[in-house]
Amino acid sequence: MGKIILEYFDGDRIYVCSKCHIHISNYKSRISKNFRGGFGQAFLFEKGINYHVGQSEVKDLMTGKHTVQDVICNGCNKVIGWKYIKAYRESEKYKEGKIIIERHFIRRIKWN
Ligand SMILES: [Zn+2]
Repeated sequence: MGKIILEYFDGDRIYVCSKCHIHISNYKSRISKNFRGGFGQAFLFEKGINYHVGQSEVKDLMTGKHTVQDVICNGCNKVIGWKYIKAYRESEKYKEGKIIIERHFIRRIKWN
């Protein structure tokens, strides 16, 4: 199989998958770095590219019940975070539609 051409972000600070190096999100889309995942620090992003999602699951997280989906890298098919589909607490609604990527699975690069 040849190399798949994927989407790219504009801007000079891009987060890429640490395994396959495709673009996942960028610094501009980063809303918060104060999240935690199974591998430590995690970032909340407004949006990302080059990923697909798994099935919806309802999980009890530290901040209450949420419907989430795994975020899976299109390049290497690794689960690198999760997407908030629905938050059941009013205070957590801002996360709906946004994605968490664990810092362990991405790194920031200079682009352009
Ligand atoms: Zn990857």
